Amino acid sequence: MDVTSVDEVLMCADPRSWRPGDSWLAGGTVIYSYGTDITRGAPTRLLDITGAGWAPLAWTPDGDLEIAATCRIAELRALADDPLPGGIPRAQLPGLDVIPPACDSFVASWKIWNVSTVGGNVATALPAGPMISLLTAWGATALILRPDGRRRRAAVADLVVGPARTRLGYGELIRSFLVPAEALRQRHAFRRLSLTERGRSAALLIGRRTSDRSLRLSVTASVFRPFVLDLHADHGQAGRRRADRPTLADAAAWRTAIDAAAAGTGGWYDDIHGDPAWRRLMTHRLGDEILAELLPGATGVDGARGRVTGDLRMERTSA
Ligand SMILES: Cc1cc2nc3c(=O)[nH]c(=O)nc-3n(C[C@H](O)[C@H](O)[C@H](O)COP(=O)(O)OP(=O)(O)OC[C@H]3O[C@@H](n4cnc5c(N)ncnc54)[C@H](O)[C@@H]3O)c2cc1C
Repeated sequence: MDVTSVDEVLMCADPRSWRPGDSWLAGGTVIYSYGTDITRGAPTRLLDITGAGWAPLAWTPDGDLEIAATCRIAELRALADDPLPGGIPRAQLPGLDVIPPACDSFVASWKIWNVSTVGGNVATALPAGPMISLLTAWGATALILRPDGRRRRAAVADLVVGPARTRLGYGELIRSFLVPAEALRQRHAFRRLSLTERGRSAALLIGRRTSDRSLRLSVTASVFRPFVLDLHADHGQAGRRRADRPTLADAAAWRTAIDAAAAGTGGWYDDIHGDPAWRRLMTHRLGDEILAELLPGATGVDGARGRVTGDLRMERTSA
């Protein structure tokens, strides 16, 4: 689609060149499909960052994974299957297992995967942004370049504050995301539900087993912004202040915690892809399944063990 407000398009990934009316352009799958920049309004200039020459994926000496903002979804998807550098056995990084289902969560074909970027997904901040879900679950931080030449870091979970709203300030550009090696070494469980076949995610939850008694649960798509809950199978947590204690990993406690978190940001997300009451029930159900899978025997929800993930299928019979 033509973006009729635009007078100029230039190759530029330097925030110091930013001026009012500018928008960063990455894969363009949002800007060109809406015909505008839904995060800031109609742009007069597009600054195309895809010529910046940033390596899509890199490993630090500590084993952390750096994902460039311009990394395409197809490049990230390939990481799950490609040999790892230095001959690291793939089995040592089970956190990579959640890349394929996260990429599959786009309501998009491989054509979109080949142009749309990880940074563009985060900056667009849609509740059903699967890269937001993935990076939140991994505990990733974003490296942000500022117009004054300085840089800052922010957790992806904190960067996204609502539909099409982030904490990115005037002219700020996401350069990359850093995924801690520790998170990639931990086991994950993924659940997603969509109301329609090949539909947009209505609830997307990812759990990460942080110890044999605890997990970190990330809730997205059914809520206005990502939420992260630290859940622990033990009562008491002796020696810790009440405010610092993780939520108990049982059905009642974690559901109360996510209900309270959702209520604090306007409730459960409501659009054509799912009624809020249904999204809440599905979130509870998928979360219970993740608890049962990652901490079997420790959470009291083992009966929830199952694999409700994917799209609801419409079965039609010719009666
Ligand atoms: C058929 C189809 C299906 C889709 N399905 C989904 C879906 O299920 N879920 C979903 O979330 N999205 C979906 N999208 C939207 C889109 O494809 C993705 O969100 C994609 O990841 C956006 O990346 P992009 O590089 O194309 O962003 P662009 O369109 O280039 O940019 C989008 C926004 O991000 C800003 N931006 C881009 N890069 C940066 C950066 N590095 N720093 C700061 N700001 C930046 C831009 O200024 C703009 O505001 C779909 C699109 C299509 C066409």
